[in-house]
Amino acid sequence: MTATATERVTHVTHPLVQHKLSYLREKDTPTVHFRKLVEEVTLLLTYEATKDFPTEDVEIETPLERTTVQRISGKKVAVCPVLRAGMGMLDGVLSLVSGARVGFIGLYRDEETLEPVEYYVKLPQDIAERDVILLDPMLATGNSTSAAVETIKRTGAQSIRLIAVIAAPDGIERLGAAHPDVHVVVAGIDRELNEHGYIVPGLGDAGDRLYGTK
Ligand code: URA
Repeated sequence: MTATATERVTHVTHPLVQHKLSYLREKDTPTVHFRKLVEEVTLLLTYEATKDFPTEDVEIETPLERTTVQRISGKKVAVCPVLRAGMGMLDGVLSLVSGARVGFIGLYRDEETLEPVEYYVKLPQDIAERDVILLDPMLATGNSTSAAVETIKRTGAQSIRLIAVIAAPDGIERLGAAHPDVHVVVAGIDRELNEHGYIVPGLGDAGDRLYGTK
């Protein structure tokens, strides 16, 4: 898939991803389309985020003969949406990685301090042995994503990647400084954060646009 990658960040520039992202950005895109587009973009980003999963040779029989095929080996997957906007991304991952376990991390952003406040955590009990895909659509200041990564790391999990829809340069930098081992796969890298901590040009409040709460 078309992507530009550094060691830590993969920016997926595939036309399908950019086309869908363009509608997510548009302020008049209705909730029903927004929700579908977030799911579709996430599915496409999942394809990229899982491209280094190891495979192994497996012997099978086709209707014609025995042959050797490739199957994903190694660890199982845990998908962890950050509530609430990350929930809009969950089905996009599960449609490709259907056997994944799901963990939930509830964080909200204090609108004054912009600091994350954790209010709910429920993770698969064997998450430490899994490859973790964290879902947080807007990597803005990086504070809440870093907090979610810390929560996951406290369980002993070591393989963590983030799928985001849009990232701000600040967020990429802050997450990278705190957690250089976390690979980020993202559809858009935007100019900056505004004074309220929103990504610009961005797409607005992802949760409100997913759930029609504003
Ligand atoms: N969260 C959002 O939903 N949008 C932003 O632009 C920043 C954080």
